[in-house]
Order: sequence, then structure tokens, then C-alpha cells
Amino acid sequence: MKYKTLFGPIQSRRFGLSLGIDLSPDEKSCNFDCLYCELAVAKVTDTIKNPPAVSLVVDEVKHALKEFPDIDVITLTANGEPTLYPYLDELVDALNLIKKDKKLLILSNASTIYHDSIQQTLSKIDIVKLSLDCVSEACFKKIDRAMDAIMIEDIIAGMKAFRRIYHGALVIEILVIKGVNDTLEEMQKLNRVLNEIEPDRIDMGSIDRPPAYAVQPVSQDVLKELASVFENLPLHLIYKKEPEVRLNFSKDEIIETVKRRPQSKADVEHLFSKSAQKNLNTLLSEKKLIMIDIAGVVFYASPDIKQKRKKS
Ligand code: SF4
Repeated sequence: MKYKTLFGPIQSRRFGLSLGIDLSPDEKSCNFDCLYCELAVAKVTDTIKNPPAVSLVVDEVKHALKEFPDIDVITLTANGEPTLYPYLDELVDALNLIKKDKKLLILSNASTIYHDSIQQTLSKIDIVKLSLDCVSEACFKKIDRAMDAIMIEDIIAGMKAFRRIYHGALVIEILVIKGVNDTLEEMQKLNRVLNEIEPDRIDMGSIDRPPAYAVQPVSQDVLKELASVFENLPLHLIYKKEPEVRLNFSKDEIIETVKRRPQSKADVEHLFSKSAQKNLNTLLSEKKLIMIDIAGVVFYASPDIKQKRKKS
């Protein structure tokens, strides 16, 4: 069947096998104009032209669930920003009734998270991914090029308020661009703010596909250095290719590393030498480390992480 509002399924390293819903199928509708956007440049807007009817989306998802029974997540996204879809609350309720064992996921730029109504709607979604590329206003304006009324301090306040009411998996995505938000200083500010927001997971990467504007990705080494700034938060690096050098870690070093910040299984497979991976497996069998699934990504963590996550 040819779908008007669906695409995929697509295998994603971050969330599993995903069936995408495009809530703005006719044209790009976004209140940001990010330097790194993979969509064609378009005028910023806070409305979606010709939004598809809830009944159409639901009928298509029902059909697709029969056609693709193995999907892990149903992903609300858009040719732009999905929270601009005017019937989002009604759609989320309807999808929750038919999704069965599948998870509902939304990929949002976070521009609307300070609205109570959006917080209420997103709180009914299993996994919420919000973008946060910078926390200083100048950097935010430079990279995300939001509509004038959108302020980063409102977004951060909205994320904190949302975390207080949201019991699902909150994932924050940071996209790093060379010469824009690739400084240790900006990452330290992000680290402080993210420790206040307390997301379940951070995904950090750089440009992967041709962007809308002439901007450059940072190297894998820079990404690793910037990631080292973050403390206490499960951070998942998004890699484009295999690194050339793998690192050796003793058992003690591994314990110290995961205490400071849980390490994703993908990062370990990318970065750890064979002997370091052997040490890690020994620690697992000794129960000095555990494996924990956070919104579809497996992390190695200290056994006390469960306790910490319960408290938060
Ligand atoms: S928020 Fe997403 S769709 Fe909108 S401009 Fe940025 S990258 Fe593109």
C-alpha cells in the first residue's frame, strides 16, 4: 500500500526499527532554520499547511502495523517540527489505543516545550527526543536560527518543567557543528543545564548528511573530547565510521569511567580494545557493572544507577 503520511520502516541505531509518521507531508513546516538541517531551506513558520486528518494517519498506521509487525517504535516526526501539528493531542491519544506493544516516539526541536498544553501531550508519549544544541542565546540563535519569539531560556525552563511531569524516556540530542558550538566552554554550560534537566539519555553527534548551509562536521576525536565534559548522564555518541585507534582500559579504569558517566554498548564496541572489552565482560560477570536499556540504547552502568534513576 502507498501511504501519504508514513515512511519506513527504517532501522535506527538510536531507537530500533522505526515506522515514521510525517505530520507535514506537503511541505517543510518548521519554526527553526538550523544550519545543519537536511531538508531544503524554507521560510520559518509556526503552522503546518494542509495538516493530514487524524483519521487518515490512524488508518494508515493500523494498516502498516499489519504490514510491518516487527517494528519497535512509531515515530512522530515531520517535514519540519511535529509539535506544530494542530491535532497532536488527539492523534497521540488515538495512537496509544492502537500501538499495542510498540513504543510511541516523537522527534521534536523543543521549540514549543514551554507550553503547558504541549507538555501535557508529550507526557503521553513513551519516548520524547528534544534537541538542545547550545544553552547560550547567541549560540542558539546562530545554530538553530529560530523564529524571533523563541528564546533558549524559555526552552530550558520548559524542559525542566516537563521533566517534572514526564515519566517516560526523555532523550536530549546535541548536534555539534565546527566553529559554532564545538567549544569546551559551551559543552560545560550544556553539562550544567542537562544535569538540572536530568534526561534519561543524551545523544551527541555531528553532521551526517549534506546540510542546508555550508557548515562542517567536527571530527570523531573532537566529539569524543567534547563528550568527556559530561558527567553523570548516559551519553551516546553517534558515529559515522569506525575509529582507527581503540583504547585499552583496566578493570578499575572501566569502573571509574562508568561511575562518571554510563557508556553505551555501541560506544564500547567502537572505542574499546579487545582486552578492554574482555575486562568489561569480567566486570559484568562479577556484577560490578550492569547493562541497562534506555529508550532502545543499551548502556553499561554502575549497579547503583537504578537507584539513582528511581529517585530522579
Ligand atoms: S528543527 Fe529539524 S526540520 Fe527544523 S530546521 Fe532544524 S533540523 Fe530542520
